[in-house]
Amino acid sequence: MDSPQRMTSRTKTVSALILVLYSVFVVVAIQSAPRRLPALPAVGLAHAVVGAFMCGVIAVLMLSQARSTGRRGYLMVSGTFLYMTGILVFFPLVFPGAVLPDQQILGGLQSAPSLFYAWHFAFPIGIAVSAFVLDMDQRTHRRPGFNHFEELFGLALTLGGILITVGLVTIGADQLPALLGSEGEPTSYMRVLDILLVGFALVSATVTAACARNGSVITRWLFALAVLGLGEAAVNFNSTGRYSAGWYYSRVFWLVAVGLLFLALLWNLARVNRRNLELAGVDSLTGSESRLGLLASVESEIAKAEAEFSQVALLWLDLDNFKAVNDELGHRVGDEVLRTVVSRLSREVADSDHVSRLGGDEFGILLCDDVDDARMQDVARRTLAAVRAPIHIAGNIVQTTATIGIATAPSDALTADELLLCADLAMYSAKGNGGDRYERFNEDIGIQAITRARMGHDLMAALRNGDFRLHYQPIVEVSDGRMAGVEVLIRWVRDGQVIPAGQFIGYAEQSGQIVNLGRVVIGQLADALPSWFARYPQDFFVTVNLSTKELADQPLIDAILTGPLAAYAQRLVIEVTESLGFQDDPNAGKGLLRLREAGMRIAIDDFGTGFSNFSRLEYLRASILKVDRSLVHREDGDGHGTFLAAAASIAHSLRCDVVAEGVETDAEADVARSLGVRYAQGYYYGRPAPAEAYLSDGSGVPAPRGPESVSAPGAEV
Ligand code: C2E
Ligand code: CA
Ligand code: CA
Repeated sequence: MDSPQRMTSRTKTVSALILVLYSVFVVVAIQSAPRRLPALPAVGLAHAVVGAFMCGVIAVLMLSQARSTGRRGYLMVSGTFLYMTGILVFFPLVFPGAVLPDQQILGGLQSAPSLFYAWHFAFPIGIAVSAFVLDMDQRTHRRPGFNHFEELFGLALTLGGILITVGLVTIGADQLPALLGSEGEPTSYMRVLDILLVGFALVSATVTAACARNGSVITRWLFALAVLGLGEAAVNFNSTGRYSAGWYYSRVFWLVAVGLLFLALLWNLARVNRRNLELAGVDSLTGSESRLGLLASVESEIAKAEAEFSQVALLWLDLDNFKAVNDELGHRVGDEVLRTVVSRLSREVADSDHVSRLGGDEFGILLCDDVDDARMQDVARRTLAAVRAPIHIAGNIVQTTATIGIATAPSDALTADELLLCADLAMYSAKGNGGDRYERFNEDIGIQAITRARMGHDLMAALRNGDFRLHYQPIVEVSDGRMAGVEVLIRWVRDGQVIPAGQFIGYAEQSGQIVNLGRVVIGQLADALPSWFARYPQDFFVTVNLSTKELADQPLIDAILTGPLAAYAQRLVIEVTESLGFQDDPNAGKGLLRLREAGMRIAIDDFGTGFSNFSRLEYLRASILKVDRSLVHREDGDGHGTFLAAAASIAHSLRCDVVAEGVETDAEADVARSLGVRYAQGYYYGRPAPAEAYLSDGSGVPAPRGPESVSAPGAEV
């Protein structure tokens, strides 16, 4: 309940309205305060008993809140209400005349006003100081925790206050009459006290208001209490003692005040408990430290490391295939996997280190003592191995791996947030390099992250401005050099320069903008296709690259199937990479199937770089196999054509045609020809260029050689 929360404008309006109504009520109450009303001693007793009970409960609740959060402000609230309880319990004892007329056990009649003042001064001061300390703790994020001694000290102080008050009232009763006068007739001394009381109440309301403005729920409640206290002090100013209207108002104000706080506390109890768990830094699923808990530990460990000139290391561990485990085996098994991972991680670290669950399938390991490269690597290696071991749950064997990013403070980062960020970036980089490994954060990773963010931003702007063009690269029939088709390759025209797809497609995929790029491609292609098919023969085909994310995007596939492209389905080929992650996203498989059913053919791109197995290749039912240029280049080196030959035989058994990609030299073209590969593509035959380059003149295959530009064909940069 001490989390800062923004007030909605509705809450603000309602609060202002209540304040105005309350002020009106106080003004009316001040007017009628001197009126004498029938004497009802039971009201005094009821007020004391009910007030004492509620104050007692508030004191206990606040004490437990203080214990679990370690915040001193709660201890102060608790102390204030403990004091109130003490006074209210003593009230009927010290001043039985309030209950049974003319019965005096301890103090004289005049003791009552001094008790009243002692209590009413303690209240605004206690509330204001509590709000102030709470606010300060919150602002500085200090959770100092207090020890047993401090708690006892606070208790002793409160009890001392009560004893002094009681002593003053009883022992000093003889000396008081002169100052406090007799009942019903306020002396000038009491007038001064009344003015002081209003002053204190005003200060209290101001201080709590300032704290409540940017503060937590509890400081707002304290503000409400202070405002009620101010109203009471104001009404008391015009009151004429026992059984006057002011006297009755005073009791009602007071009961409303503690009653409200009491209700608020009960109402918030569930929330308090939940927050307490969080603040105590415990993850409810695994019982390990939570993200909040880890942040707090990291903060204090960094401070310690700075003081001792040592370092701390954070290992950010992310499970590689947890989503699949959850989807296939259910959340119960998933939860059990997370618990198992935590217990395995805990076994690999020292007692002084921290293992925490950061959320989802992400974990943090904070190494605190004797941190050096060797220890970091050792822990990283052992935790990777620990996660890799099969997990047996309810008859299932779950096999999972993890990826770790490591960052250290103070060398990589100075704050807890920075350290987590650096470790996360290192993990991200390690994931990009295949996962099931660890990586240390370094400058390059930081720069990559900045580049990624900037590229994402620039791509968005470029999409808005329409800075993308399509280039086409010929795919030729090896036997006669005839142009059999073209591959569509997207280009980014940036400051007059033509940027090839290879330099930005990856970023577009990471940022999810690839789907928007896909829309640009199909839009521009729809305009260009009629010219292509008018110029080239019936069997001429156009190939389009679609990534997993594009294939998985239903609306994009719908747009292709319902738009102008659908009319050319028989002459379109969809290029998908061999490593296409259908297992990551089953929707991609569905998208591809829909395109195939519409009549489009499928080409497997970059063949030889992924991990295809035959069943997967068969499942894709491709018509074309595009052998990656790294393999084609290798043919040039050893000249045996081993890879191309193997690919050709695979293609034969799958009944599809082969395209040798990236053919740049005579030698490479010769190898392709001698092995009977049907198609080839590469700079040797023609560079990617705008459509006009291949549509303008009527003779054979043009082979643009100049720089690749928007208007004229040319060399790739
Ligand atoms: P890819 O499908 O393998 O495309 C062939 C890449 O190799 C193109 O790079 C092309 O310019 C380049 N290339 C062609 N012949 C030669 C050669 O003889 N030597 C060398 N060194 N390179 C050659 P680009 O245009 O930069 O495209 C890179 C990748 O980006 C493509 O690889 C493709 O996977 C992807 N891509 C391109 N356009 C699109 C698109 O519109 N959508 C999607 N999703 N991906 C695209
Ligand atoms: Ca391709
Ligand atoms: Ca390729």
